[in-house]
Amino acid sequence: MSYVFSPAPVASVPVVGCGDRFPVHRIYCVGRNYEEHAREMGFTGREPPFFFLKPADAIVAVNAGETGLLPYPSLTANLHHEIELVVAIGKGGKNILAADALQHIYGYAVGLDMTRRDLQNDMKKQGRPWCIAKGFDASAPIGPITPAAQAGDIAHAAIWLQVNGAERQRSNLSQLIWNIGEIIEHLSAAWELAPGDLIYTGTPEGVGAVVRGDTLEGGVNGLPTLRLSVV
Ligand code: MN
Repeated sequence: MSYVFSPAPVASVPVVGCGDRFPVHRIYCVGRNYEEHAREMGFTGREPPFFFLKPADAIVAVNAGETGLLPYPSLTANLHHEIELVVAIGKGGKNILAADALQHIYGYAVGLDMTRRDLQNDMKKQGRPWCIAKGFDASAPIGPITPAAQAGDIAHAAIWLQVNGAERQRSNLSQLIWNIGEIIEHLSAAWELAPGDLIYTGTPEGVGAVVRGDTLEGGVNGLPTLRLSVV
């Protein structure tokens, strides 16, 4: 088989304690999955989980101990940080039950669901898709993936984000409205999951804007910290 031009390189993420990289298939994201964040966005109550996607090559993969470069995107004056636990799928499937979800998980990483909030608000008002607000280039920074067996008690881990050393977001994975198993159950009813899929599981309260020159440092206890400079 030959192509009319060279295929794009495979987007990939480093793996803790391993020289091989995790090849990215798709990026799924969960909306409003912490109650306090749903409130700050003007919503209340438990609603069924909903999903959006980012392109696989929207990742900015940052090695442990390094500071990644996050280009400030065009068309926005309100670029928001959303710190999130990322679940990396190692075994695909459809109609996966929450009780069976763990065996489909390869590992976990810290990610940022960067959002052009001004454009998202415009799109919401007009009932239009969020793609331009969520799926832009470099909108999905991610740290190294820690294999599940080495990640500790992720379900009860703290999640936090600092901007220029000041805390902006802090919560705990136990506060997820839909837990990891339930997310995988709902997601795999709508799409067939495949090895290489990443799931950004939603952000806690405290989202806010960053500007060029800011340094973001975010973490989930038990996983390597993610550090980026906005350029
Ligand atoms: Mn998000």
